[in-house]
Amino acid sequence: CEFGTVDVNQLVREVSETLTATKKHIRLHPRLSEKIPCIQADRGQIEQVLLNLFLNAADAMPDGGNVFIETSALTGAGARGKAALSSHRTYVLLKVSDGGTGIPEKNLDRIFEPFFTTKGLENGTGLGLSTAYGIAKSHYGDIAVESEVDKGSSFFVYLPASEDGL
Ligand code: ADP
Ligand code: MG
Repeated sequence: CEFGTVDVNQLVREVSETLTATKKHIRLHPRLSEKIPCIQADRGQIEQVLLNLFLNAADAMPDGGNVFIETSALTGAGARGKAALSSHRTYVLLKVSDGGTGIPEKNLDRIFEPFFTTKGLENGTGLGLSTAYGIAKSHYGDIAVESEVDKGSSFFVYLPASEDGL
């Protein structure tokens, strides 16, 4: 990838070990699409998004479980969920899914709000997802969620490919 652009696959590979080391009860499964474009992004911020989603996934599975981190490329037209994307642009999708508690429907509209937490003041700041949302938006991308109580959750982070994809 060119200077100022980020290879999301490489980022996932590089942080996977650290993530696994911090949450020993979680098995991390990267599923990286071979050919994805580079994105124009602040690498540290994308790392922050990945970390926040991973930590939430780990919290949702206190007795252990699997977290899948998938990458792929698609146009805005191919996006699922409520993401606001332009249909002709190419995006890298970073998907983080867990088999945890899931999110009740009544909370789904609120989880991206700052300070919304169900973990209590001692354990949650309620800032992880609002930060991730802000980062996705500031990169002209978006973030969406699909969740089923007692089944698990998937978070979809869409980040536009850099102009020429290199
Ligand atoms: P915090 O983790 O500090 O509570 P977040 O902004 O990261 O704040 O998440 C907000 C809320 O969204 C959480 O308290 C939780 O209720 C819900 N949530 C987020 N991710 C998940 C997940 N993977 N599984 C279940 N619930 C989740
Ligand atoms: Mg969190």
